[in-house]
Amino acid sequence: MSFNLTNFATTASTGEPKRTKVLVLGSGPAGLTAALYAARAELEPVVLTGSELGGQAALTFTIENYPGFPDGVGGSELGELIQKQAEKFGAVVEFDTANSVDLLQRPYRVTTDNGEYLADTLIIATGARPNHLEIPGESTLTGRGVSYCATCDGWFFKEKKVAVVGGGDSALEEALFLTRFASQVTIIHRRDSLRAGKVLQSRAFSNPKINFIWNSQVTDVLGDDKVTHLNLKNTLTGEKSTQEFDGLFIFIGHIPNTQLFKGQLEMDEMGYIKSNAFMETNLPGVYVAGEVTDSHFRQVVTSAGMGASAAIQVTQFLEKEAVEA
Ligand code: NAP
Repeated sequence: MSFNLTNFATTASTGEPKRTKVLVLGSGPAGLTAALYAARAELEPVVLTGSELGGQAALTFTIENYPGFPDGVGGSELGELIQKQAEKFGAVVEFDTANSVDLLQRPYRVTTDNGEYLADTLIIATGARPNHLEIPGESTLTGRGVSYCATCDGWFFKEKKVAVVGGGDSALEEALFLTRFASQVTIIHRRDSLRAGKVLQSRAFSNPKINFIWNSQVTDVLGDDKVTHLNLKNTLTGEKSTQEFDGLFIFIGHIPNTQLFKGQLEMDEMGYIKSNAFMETNLPGVYVAGEVTDSHFRQVVTSAGMGASAAIQVTQFLEKEAVEA
């Protein structure tokens, strides 16, 4: 992706924790929009980018449903634009990752790769990461034909045969993207109907490079140093087959990046941080935004909206605290 790392402020570690009014964890649309709003409230927010600059959205080649961009906008381009807008109002974006958090008392202590922060308030926007199939061969052949990002790896599959697993928007969108490179894209889905939206479905059905294998699961990824074949099992008949493929792209949903907060913030059974309509968590001054708390909408625009809401609430929270002090 094309984020310009020279844009990132660097905090030389002085050994002293850095004090911030608002610390935003995550640089996807939720985190960067939260930073924009907090910056406009003159709270001088600091954003820790995490390792996924721009979040999951930055891995999307074109986002066609973000309002205001009738011709679509590149995922990383959108992130860069929001970052620029936030920095214009005083947000500081640090290329740094939180490793541990101590939420026992305020100010909250966050330890990162480069140092330590004491934050009056936190906006957690750490997003989610792709689910894995957890099948033999998947992890050993990741980067050697197995991928979770068509935008990142599609180019390597020029004139090759690739399989895509999943029946949701991501699977279809990424399959359509892969037709730019691959000679054939086979969508393997465990049922016989798709979860994806109708527009994507009709685009996929009418694309001559895309074909479907229904009611099937991939059970093994085969190959020595790169993917050569997949073992499939029919979910209705149990029939097994082995088919030749050069690549396997997996788009079967996400899990939230919330390990850091386990035992400190309330979560649901899937690990999403619980929040209310005001983006509040169970702790005062700790707010959430985007896919870390949202297993339902998971859109760039809804994540950005939650980022704005969280920052508005943080602003009110700090104002109220200042009045009461
Ligand atoms: P999703 O909607 O949860 O779809 C996941 C797909 O993977 C489903 O078809 C599911 O099958 C399948 N799946 C799950 N576990 C599996 C397993 N172990 N083995 C085989 N298949 C498995 O996830 P998504 O496509 O990533 O989309 C997530 C959210 O982002 C959705 O709300 C979507 O609308 C949104 N999104 C929107 C856009 C857009 O608007 N352009 C683009 C991308 C994503 P079943 O159908 O049988 O459950």
